[in-house]
Amino acid sequence: MEEYPLTVPSRSAVRVRVPAKINLHLGVGPLRDDGFHDLATVFHAVSLYDELTLECGPPGVRLVLETPDNAVPTDERNLAVRALNALAAYANIEPAVTVRLRKGIPVAGGMAGGSADAAAALVAGDTLWQLATPPEKLHELAAQLGSDVPFALLGGDALGTGRGERLTPLTHPYQRHWVFATASEGLSTPAVYAESDRIRGTTAASDPEPVIKALDEPDPRALADALGNDLQAATLSLRPELHHVLAAGEAAGALKGIVSGSGPTCAFLVRDAEHARSVAARLKNTRIAHGPVGGAALVTN
Ligand code: ATP
Repeated sequence: MEEYPLTVPSRSAVRVRVPAKINLHLGVGPLRDDGFHDLATVFHAVSLYDELTLECGPPGVRLVLETPDNAVPTDERNLAVRALNALAAYANIEPAVTVRLRKGIPVAGGMAGGSADAAAALVAGDTLWQLATPPEKLHELAAQLGSDVPFALLGGDALGTGRGERLTPLTHPYQRHWVFATASEGLSTPAVYAESDRIRGTTAASDPEPVIKALDEPDPRALADALGNDLQAATLSLRPELHHVLAAGEAAGALKGIVSGSGPTCAFLVRDAEHARSVAARLKNTRIAHGPVGGAALVTN
């Protein structure tokens, strides 16, 4: 008897859009025996997006980068490729797909772009292969791929504990507006954590509670006062010129500037969309965004 694949693709192509994240608070605990750090972080999904299209293709997973960038691998080192291989292994199918990836999230910028692509690939693969994977299983696969991947599935605002993979959604009615100053050269996240361990030793993670409280305040100045990042000193130690970027953003009128995650992107909280345009006009290499926005989702048009 002739063998047919277990699943039949429902469409010829599936497109998924996935947001970047910043950390409104990033509390970093001491290095654990397993090489990770306990985090107490408040994730915030912002409207800078990567877009990933999945099409049936020759056997295997082939990735085509539509926005060429030497810093983004196109082989198994790419987190989107790893995610599709992991999903196919879980579902016990042989993948045969081409991934087209359009990067809108700064690469190696502390905005979890690679993790976002892994989340997008899980959603796209699940749809193309008609797997209807239970959300808990998708979350589990996401957490195995990286600590920031589960949040990219969820989006919005969320408290992250453990390595950042244990999520508690935080709901409130307010949109926040941001200007991001991007750097042409990325920073290695492991290098920033190593520098942070050197500087901070066994200091406990700082408390995310003030940010969680400030999210319920309509006035963005309350949030500006509460923003915090335990990695910032390490990032500034490795990239001292970011002191000037942070100072320039605040001199341009931003309510507050912080390093985004491990950097080097700097995130400036502003009052509203118009204020964002005026602050961005006075800085170099900026992107404007708002948040919170939803996590990885199919694009249906
Ligand atoms: P992290 O999530 O580790 O904090 P980041 O947000 O600072 O990282 P990413 O854009 O995720 O930065 O890229 C970090 C590195 O991951 C890149 O330098 C690249 O080598 C690798 N990488 C793997 N997959 C991807 C991807 N899909 N997009 C971008 N970089 C990727």
